[in-house]
Amino acid sequence: MSGGGDSAPLVLIVGGGGTGGALAHDLTLRGARVVLVERGEFTSGTTGRHHGLLHSGARYAVNDKESALECIEENTLLRRIAPGSFEENDGLFVGLTDEDMAYLPAFLEGCEDTGIPTQVLQPDEALRLEPMLNPVLKVAVRVPDATMDAMRMPLRFFATAKANGADLLNWVDVIDIDLAGGVVSGATVRDQVTGRQTHIGADLVVNATGPWSEQVARMAGVDVPIRPSPGVMLAVRGRLCNMVVNRLHASGDGDIVVPQRALSIVGTSSWVVEDPDDLGVPADHVQRMIDEGSMLVPAVREAPFRSAWSAARPLIGSRDDADSGRELSRTFKTIDHAVDDGVEGFVTITGGKGTTLRGMAEVCADVVSRKLGLDMPCATRETVLLPHTAAYAA
Ligand SMILES: Cc1cc2nc3c(=O)[nH]c(=O)nc-3n(C[C@H](O)[C@H](O)[C@H](O)COP(=O)(O)OP(=O)(O)OC[C@H]3O[C@@H](n4cnc5c(N)ncnc54)[C@H](O)[C@@H]3O)c2cc1C
Repeated sequence: MSGGGDSAPLVLIVGGGGTGGALAHDLTLRGARVVLVERGEFTSGTTGRHHGLLHSGARYAVNDKESALECIEENTLLRRIAPGSFEENDGLFVGLTDEDMAYLPAFLEGCEDTGIPTQVLQPDEALRLEPMLNPVLKVAVRVPDATMDAMRMPLRFFATAKANGADLLNWVDVIDIDLAGGVVSGATVRDQVTGRQTHIGADLVVNATGPWSEQVARMAGVDVPIRPSPGVMLAVRGRLCNMVVNRLHASGDGDIVVPQRALSIVGTSSWVVEDPDDLGVPADHVQRMIDEGSMLVPAVREAPFRSAWSAARPLIGSRDDADSGRELSRTFKTIDHAVDDGVEGFVTITGGKGTTLRGMAEVCADVVSRKLGLDMPCATRETVLLPHTAAYAA
């Protein structure tokens, strides 16, 4: 069952999205015993449903510099530890209107401040790279975005954690957290296949349940103010671009087209909900993806429909903040509930991006290690990950 020996502390991670998987990997390398439970298939939450953009950070360079810095650092690092998981296709931020052009100076300045390399292209240069761009474009800025497989890239963290002894259990959900005298000592779990309930004792429980963090935290009697903020994505058949194509403006609806295999993914919208299991795919949002996406790449409008779906961001903020969720930062937060709420043995990691999963895990594992007396430093920056197929090994 363990990364460390039998006497090593045992960490129970709740949630098998990218964040939970990356944390399992980090903690096994630091010598902890790790059990991870996921109520569905691994990465079946928000992780496996995102666009598959490896962010350069440029999207956040003007209004959310902290996220931009996190993204560019992890973008560079992930290419090193997960070779073969990315299309090294770069991205373009495309200016179509005078308003977009007015955004250009702040965009370039924000990228420079955060260390994101840029190359300004004239319309004819951009059209040579991407002939299906809207020909009215006025400018394009090249940045180091990339395409990744939203499931397979994080599965490499699961694969490596498993090879190092982590016990990864899917189709098992946490239905209660054991709390007595202000100390968490494990959780009650239910096997979704057999219906059997069992108890897993742990020295520390980490809540890595993304948009479900508030629900799981409540089981331990603490409050995590998460706004589940869904977005709709649309897949059309045909690879309409080879680079990631973004609109050069402040973040808005339908302003990105990500090439994925033989499809093009248009995203996304943003609103807030109470229940991360009740998202829906509003028809007017799908129409907005077509309308706005075809501003960038006109062929989006005529391309055959493949599918539309939604997923919820785990945005951190007061429940009273923000109507659409766009105003909330994309950065992440580790909460030691002993410090914040007087509940020992319980930590939450939430927020962030698929791109920043490793960095989130490092910060969280630092907190967990300090609490459990593990003295090994983080080794995930240098550890090359196993292929995702190793996650399926018996
Ligand atoms: C529309 C949209 C587009 C996005 N596009 C991108 C993108 O292109 N690039 C990028 O880098 N990021 C993107 N993101 C952000 C990224 O998807 C998320 O930040 C990331 O996937 C969050 O991962 P996570 O592991 O924290 O959460 P999740 O992947 O949601 O994992 C949490 C897991 O916890 C499990 N769980 C919940 N309750 C329980 C329980 N009681 N017991 C056991 N398990 C439980 C869930 O089943 C789930 O699998 C996008 C997000 C959205 C919403």
